[in-house]
Amino acid sequence: MTALDRITLTGLRARGTHGVLPAERELGQEFSADVVLHVDTRAAAADDDLSATVNYAEVAQDAVAVLAGPPVDLIETVAARIADRALRHPRVRAVDVTVHKPQAPVPVPFADVTVHVHRTAGASGDVVLALGANLGDARTTLRDALTQLDRHPRVAVTAVSPLLRSAAVVAPGTPPQPDYLNAVALLRTDLPPRELLALCQGIELAHGRVRTERWGARPLDLDLVAVGSLTWQDEDLTLPHPRAHERGFVLAPWARVAPDAVLPGHGSVAELADRVGDGGQWLDESWWEA
Ligand code: ATP
Ligand code: CA
Ligand code: CA
Repeated sequence: MTALDRITLTGLRARGTHGVLPAERELGQEFSADVVLHVDTRAAAADDDLSATVNYAEVAQDAVAVLAGPPVDLIETVAARIADRALRHPRVRAVDVTVHKPQAPVPVPFADVTVHVHRTAGASGDVVLALGANLGDARTTLRDALTQLDRHPRVAVTAVSPLLRSAAVVAPGTPPQPDYLNAVALLRTDLPPRELLALCQGIELAHGRVRTERWGARPLDLDLVAVGSLTWQDEDLTLPHPRAHERGFVLAPWARVAPDAVLPGHGSVAELADRVGDGGQWLDESWWEA
């Protein structure tokens, strides 16, 4: 993982009614917060594209909404809530929040009372994306697809497996196909799964994907393998992907980026990958950079 950059918001202020005393609940007092976002800003810095980084105005509004929002007893709780909200932004990997309560009921002269919390984003909500291509310049297409996803303001690519080359599995009686290049990427996003699928399908189309026969050769295939531990089933989307557990070209790269991963309903990804085998040849280790 690369070094993180910091975005700092200081002196966010609002009148709030947090505290344990009835007078605090009735009259309210001033609260303020400082928020330090630890973010991966490489993509934004590379081409000066603000949409690829965090919308800190949104983080500021969220923090003020918590300060002014439903009362809680402790400023620890206020700080934790602000941190949780900030971590919903996909590019925020960790956050420090300091909450100030300078008018706290303390019976001696004092300047301020502060509470500080530090929180890091867990991997629990991570999206596992399988990428495949076997028409055209597959490596460039896969690279471009990841860049497009990472530039989306609500998506961050956090890890990418090495490239795996493997023979296409073709239906009996159909002509042979070129080898596939496959990889698995981990994403963080706050897009709902259906919107993420639509985004992926748009990227497939932009790379010339046309849907003809099932499992035909294609310039790009983006499958949602899993979204955290979510199970989902509707006419357009099944999670986890119903065929992931039997596919070496999904399991082996997944195990490389997330050795402890579990495929809901099937167990350890590394064990499944051992059983099924990668069925191919590993190519480049680091073939994509944000
Ligand atoms: P396979 O799903 O066996 O890998 P495929 O990738 O070739 O086959 P597509 O033609 O790309 O299949 O997709 C067929 C449909 O599958 C899509 O229209 C999509 O709505 C649906 N689908 C259901 N679940 C998923 C998922 N988890 N990820 C991607 N597409 C899905
Ligand atoms: Ca597929
Ligand atoms: Ca697909």
